[in-house]
Amino acid sequence: MAFCTEEEKTEDYLFKIVLIGDSAVGKSNLLARFARDEFYPNSKSTIGVEFQTQKININGKEVKAQIWDTAGQERFRAVTSAYYRGAVGALIVYDISRRQTFESVGRWLNELHTHSDMNVVTILVGNKSDLKDAREVTTAEGKGLAEAQGLFFIETSALDSSNVASAFQTVVREIYNILSKKVI
Ligand code: GDP
Ligand code: MG
Repeated sequence: MAFCTEEEKTEDYLFKIVLIGDSAVGKSNLLARFARDEFYPNSKSTIGVEFQTQKININGKEVKAQIWDTAGQERFRAVTSAYYRGAVGALIVYDISRRQTFESVGRWLNELHTHSDMNVVTILVGNKSDLKDAREVTTAEGKGLAEAQGLFFIETSALDSSNVASAFQTVVREIYNILSKKVI
């Protein structure tokens, strides 16, 4: 990544973003929805791609996000340090209909901080907001945890697409803003 003149810096941004969170919270489907506008109703750990590169427009500039998916290894609590290496952004995902996945957020945050830079731009994502009747974690609880930990916060549904693009865009925009300030 080169930061030189105003003209040169347009095409050069490539941000590594990692998806983390307990198994079956919807990480792979958030990426499938965002990158390909697809949804998989049945959980299949094999659908996970290693990473997907997505172009995102920020203030008229094209930024590339290389979004990494765990492809199932989180099931065995075996997300490797290579997965985190070089990440500048992270989405920590839980399932609003399974409290246990919300209670794991602290552990994922620790793991992120162990394996990567403290300044990784992180958003807490409460996924499956469509499951209104099964909700076990309130929006206020999610927001409260995010505020306490200095994270962005959003609730999404990979099923009905709500806020999926915003979740990724929020992270990419913030990284972009931080980097452009450093350049000046
Ligand atoms: P991962 O293990 O975190 O990658 O989770 P998956 O993306 O494989 O999703 C696990 C299961 O949850 C699958 O059966 C998905 O169809 C389902 N799922 C994912 N996102 C949503 C969502 O937003 N709403 C609902 N209702 N189900 C979802
Ligand atoms: Mg997955």
